[in-house]
Amino acid sequence: MPVEEKPVAIVTGGVRGIGRAIAEELINEGYQVLVTYCHSEEQAEQMGKLLKEKVVIKRTDISKQDEVDNLFDEVLKQFGRVDILVNNAGITHDKTFHKMDANEWHEVIDVNLNGTFYCCNRAIPAMRDRNFGRIINISSVVGQKGNFGQANYAASKAGLLGLTKTLALENAVKGITVNAVCPGFIDTDMVSVIPDNVKTKIQDDIPMKRFGTAKEVARAVKFLVSSDAGYITGQELNVNGGLLTH
Ligand code: NAD
Repeated sequence: MPVEEKPVAIVTGGVRGIGRAIAEELINEGYQVLVTYCHSEEQAEQMGKLLKEKVVIKRTDISKQDEVDNLFDEVLKQFGRVDILVNNAGITHDKTFHKMDANEWHEVIDVNLNGTFYCCNRAIPAMRDRNFGRIINISSVVGQKGNFGQANYAASKAGLLGLTKTLALENAVKGITVNAVCPGFIDTDMVSVIPDNVKTKIQDDIPMKRFGTAKEVARAVKFLVSSDAGYITGQELNVNGGLLTH
C-alpha cells in the first residue's frame, strides 16, 4: 500500500510497555504508526533503530496542550488523516490520600486524563471530517474498583471511562467508535516498582495467578480497532485474568 493511503494510528507512550506492544501489533496490521514518548529517550532510540521507517517517533508531553497541538498539526500536514488514536500514556504517583498533596494529584490527572482530552480534542474533528475513527482509551481495573494508595490514578482512570462513553454517544453517527481497555496487572516497568512481597499478594488475588503480558493487552486493542469490532462502541474490555468480573 502506498504510504499516503495507509491508515494512520497514533499511540501515545508507545515506545515501551503496553504502548510498544500495541504499536507493534498495529504495524503488523499494516497501519502507518506514530508513537509518542515523554522521558523514555533510550527506549525511543532503540525502537527507532529496530523498526526504522515502519514507525514515526515523536517526543510529546501529552500533559501540555501546545505540544499535543504541534503533534497533530504535523501529523495532519504529513499524512492528512488520523484513523486510530490509542490513548495509552499514563503515570502513577502513589500515596494514601491523607498524605497526598495537590501537586501529586494534578501530576497524574494532567497526564492520564487531561492528556487524553488534548489528544481526543484534536483527533475527533479530523475523524469526523472523514466519517471514520477508532479511539481506544487505556483505563485500568483500578479505575473500575479503586485501589489503596492510588486515589489520583483511580480518579484519572475512572474519568477515562466516563469520557469514553460520552465520546462514543456523541460520535457514533460519524462512524467513530470509542472504547476503553481495562488491564489488570500487566508485567511492565510500571508494575516492576511494586515490592516483591506485594507482588506475590497481588498474584494470589488474581484468579489466573499471574500478571498479564503487554501483548495480551495489545491484542485486545488490535481487535477493537479492526473492522470485526465495527459495531462495538462505548464499552469497557477487561484484560485482567479474572481479577474483576462484570
Ligand atoms: P510504562 O510506564 O511502561 O509506559 C508508560 C508510557 O507513557 C511511557 O512510554 C512513557 O514515556 C509515557 N508517558 C508518561 N508520561 C507521559 C507524558 N506526559 N507524555 C507522553 N507520554 C508519557 O507503563 P505501562 O505499564 O506500559 O502502561 C501503559 C498504560 O496502561 C498506562 O496508561 C497505564 O496506566 C495503563 N495500565 C497499566 C497497567 C499495568 O499493570 N502495567 C495496568 C492497567 C493500566
